[in-house]
Amino acid sequence: MISFFEGFFEIQKKGHQLLFSWIPFSFGDVLYVLLGIFLLYIIINCFKQKSRNTSLKQLLVLFNLFYFIYQVFWGMLYFQTPIIEKLPKGEVTLHQRKKLALRYLEKCKATRKLVNQDTKGIFIITDLKSIQKEILLQQEKLPKYISDKKSTQINDFKPSLFKNVMSFTGILGYYNPFTAEAQYNSELPSTFLPFTSAHESSHQLGFAREQEANFIGYLIGVNSKNTALRYSTEYFTLKSLLNSIIEEDPAFVKTALNNYSQEMKRDRRYERSFIYSHQGWLDDFFGFTNNLFLKSNQQEGAVTYSYFIDLLVHYEK
Ligand SMILES: [Zn+2]
Repeated sequence: MISFFEGFFEIQKKGHQLLFSWIPFSFGDVLYVLLGIFLLYIIINCFKQKSRNTSLKQLLVLFNLFYFIYQVFWGMLYFQTPIIEKLPKGEVTLHQRKKLALRYLEKCKATRKLVNQDTKGIFIITDLKSIQKEILLQQEKLPKYISDKKSTQINDFKPSLFKNVMSFTGILGYYNPFTAEAQYNSELPSTFLPFTSAHESSHQLGFAREQEANFIGYLIGVNSKNTALRYSTEYFTLKSLLNSIIEEDPAFVKTALNNYSQEMKRDRRYERSFIYSHQGWLDDFFGFTNNLFLKSNQQEGAVTYSYFIDLLVHYEK
């Protein structure tokens, strides 16, 4: 049954990408805006005595239609076999995560020396198009036992029309299931952009779960010859590992941060200044601090590491 939806997804995605990828802006974003306006119109009519009944019916039909299309195009993919079942079994220990963190710290330091920086010494992307091309190419090189999905090789990355809202809410990117476009926040610091693109491209490939998209994004970026993509990926991996350790061993994380190279420290400072200038009170509610930044004081109790870390450690075994 699920394989039927997986097959259907391939066709739907290809069709939509052929239809919408050539449009230079996010067509899905425009669609969302129009839908929002239409919805508002119906809701206002619901309050009018004369049109109440028809409007309520319209609202119900619209909601059901929207939900149905979403489920068929995307929602069913959440029922796919989890990637973790394709990887070696076993425990994930603190020791393993520390070892990996140290390895990725060294990788980051080395790769950071190879990338471009601006006049302030902060990492910058100079050629986003070539990164996007590389991501699509790497989609074809994924280990077959993890992904047998077909890449369309269509460049369908779009800067989001809602970049301001995204910066303030900490949303880095999103996939539009109705148009198969991958949106990213073009305001983001360069450290985020390549990996975010790889993550969204993994959704395009057909991985619905967030942490699995991170893992596929990791596989896409980690062995790439494109140094900007590789640095962004290694840096994401390092941060995720440190995040998974901080509660159990804060001293280890502190030492690791101190051992960042000067270049990495500048990148980190820039990321933090970007967040602090945007997040405000939304801080604790949205993704920014949860996944991608080291929290100064962690609040989550029970869960010490994410499903991404689980996948990463088992894969690296
Ligand atoms: Zn995602």
